Amino acid sequence: MTRDPRYDVLFEPVRLGPVTARNRFFQVPHCNGMGHRDPTAHAVMRGVKAEGGWAVVCTEEVEIHPTSDTGGFIEGRLWDDADIPAHERLVEQVHAYGSLAGIEFVHNGMASANLYGRIPPLGPSHLPVPGHEPIQARAMSRDDVGDLRRRHRQAVQRSLRAGYDLVYVYAAHGLSTLQHFLSRRYNLRDDEYGGTLENRARLLREVLEDTLEECDGRAAVACRVVVDELLGEEGIERPEIEQLFELVGELPDLWDVMVGFWPDDSRTSRFAHEAWTEEHFRGIKQLTSKPVVGIGWLTSPDTMVRLVQGGVIDLIGAARPSIADPFLPLKIEEGRLEDIRECIGCNVCVTGDWTMTPIRCTQNPSMGEEWRRGWHPERFRPAGSNSKVLVVGAGPAGLEAAMALGKRGYEVVLAEAGRELGGRVLCEARLPGLAAWIRVVDYRRAQLAKLPNVELALESEVTAEEVRDYGFDHVAVATGARWRADGIGRWHTHPPGFDSAVETLTPDDLMAGRLPAGERIVLFDDDHYYLGGVLAELLATKGKRVTLVTPAARVSEWSVNTMEQERIHRRLVEAGVELVTAQALAAVEGGTARIVDVYTDADRELLLDGLVLVTARLPNDALALELGATAIGDAYAPGTIATAVWDGRRYAEELDGDPPGDAVPYRREVVELLPLEEEVQVR
Ligand code: ADP
Ligand code: SF4
Repeated sequence: MTRDPRYDVLFEPVRLGPVTARNRFFQVPHCNGMGHRDPTAHAVMRGVKAEGGWAVVCTEEVEIHPTSDTGGFIEGRLWDDADIPAHERLVEQVHAYGSLAGIEFVHNGMASANLYGRIPPLGPSHLPVPGHEPIQARAMSRDDVGDLRRRHRQAVQRSLRAGYDLVYVYAAHGLSTLQHFLSRRYNLRDDEYGGTLENRARLLREVLEDTLEECDGRAAVACRVVVDELLGEEGIERPEIEQLFELVGELPDLWDVMVGFWPDDSRTSRFAHEAWTEEHFRGIKQLTSKPVVGIGWLTSPDTMVRLVQGGVIDLIGAARPSIADPFLPLKIEEGRLEDIRECIGCNVCVTGDWTMTPIRCTQNPSMGEEWRRGWHPERFRPAGSNSKVLVVGAGPAGLEAAMALGKRGYEVVLAEAGRELGGRVLCEARLPGLAAWIRVVDYRRAQLAKLPNVELALESEVTAEEVRDYGFDHVAVATGARWRADGIGRWHTHPPGFDSAVETLTPDDLMAGRLPAGERIVLFDDDHYYLGGVLAELLATKGKRVTLVTPAARVSEWSVNTMEQERIHRRLVEAGVELVTAQALAAVEGGTARIVDVYTDADRELLLDGLVLVTARLPNDALALELGATAIGDAYAPGTIATAVWDGRRYAEELDGDPPGDAVPYRREVVELLPLEEEVQVR
């Protein structure tokens, strides 16, 4: 297949100072929860992106010195020469496929409490660090500024030794000292580094000049800057950016632009549409003769072409679209658009960073497993036998298992009770804000259609007897899970005995289109991820008076890890939902709910006409138990869509493989111990 000529523009090379990107696909820096702890896993993951056609592949933010560490967060490090080999490995992986390797340096300054090294953080001013850590940054002296500049230079030197082609000067996401100096909000200085924009930009300009001098044509220099902090007059806004470009617009070889703080930049599809950044980026290119890269949850090649031809950006910046599909550029180049695994905008990938664990992706189960388990986003091990496999249930787990087994070459039958493929995704994608999630089904449906060895049997509710009669060699049961109606969950681990005369609905009922008859609805969210909030929103839009009760301190508490929590809270308030936090639903009797404060046990009563329980699920594992077959996905243990997809892939990968037994079932790197010298023994 060949590419459609209308996408030719995306494959033009772009000159970035001394180097050239072979096309316009640019994987901007992104965190991955592997960083310095899992260097080879990280390096191989980046290599797969290069293999998939990304002309530039960058690291995540890389700490330049222990005076600014990211605490428990697992980012990159280039503190001294000992960190160079890990970077050499990453560069090697990226170069192996002809791509350019970029590194984003960071001095987090007042954005980090330096919990690892315990060194008091530094910033432009005496201000507390974010995140409610009881630590303040110290206002930097001129000597501190000199130290930062020297250490940044040293990091640049080391990155050149590691072989990087592109070096970042970073003033974005609210995570960099250079941005803190630039921003009126954080810079309260009255010396030559404070006050006017020219003064506030002084440190950025100096570091840019230092970096250009160190690179001296051996690597391109990119400057990543926030073009609007979204703080109104208090923060950086467009007029100041225009002034900044007058001052330093021609210095770097490339501008990388973004909007707001990280939760703004990587907002989920529930709160943003593709290319939402366009209005902020328009006109930036006209401020400089240098190329501009920018992101915006760009997954459609037509949108990419429009942005390039419309003079908005020169390079297609992507983190999430490159995570969901590391082979996105190659698929466009080869005219295989139907093979693109489009990002659904759920930010499960971001949770890796926030939970300090290797990155995972709802759409791409191989993400983070490239080296650990040897999984590839496109290539599959050949089948280990001529076995015939039955997969029961076509939710995310069954779809992924059938697809991956099919790609391995097995003969597969995918039996689904319903009329359509998709399982829970079909239902959830109809909920407010979650429409893009249907892409989990779309991608797999299209792939299955190309596999003659996979037979689909819709409207086929399978029983144990039938399965026994069919004579398959293997059966994977992916029959999902159901929401509990008895209130059991995290808070109540035994049935609380809510009054059964009160109409009580589960998420399954609501997703099946049923609505409570009454007006005043109490929704008890003991699940704490997205669903409670989404269903409260749904009920509010249907005219119900909704009170969301949660034992957590915040609504949709776990969504802090997808960086959605504040937006969810705002949306629910705007929808008129009453939010009752740190309180649990203790009892329901007649038209009254008794709720208790989780700290004091103080109780009060709420009047209600109906109850919605979002608490826990039970696996639909009866068929698996009856057959002694393997349950996968939610049928084994209910979890996220991402865990179901991953489990489907794992089943397919492990079929006919050696059982891991007691061995660690994936590769890991263990730190090398230094000799215990006598003089450093504990005194
Ligand atoms: P998961 O998230 O683990 O993939 P889902 O709940 O999304 O699970 O999907 C389970 C799918 O299994 C649903 O589409 C459901 O219709 C189907 N299913 C459940 N029981 C049977 C059965 N006995 N035979 C065929 N399909 C079934
Ligand atoms: Fe996209 Fe979700 Fe995958 Fe992240 S986890 S890349 S948001 S599909």
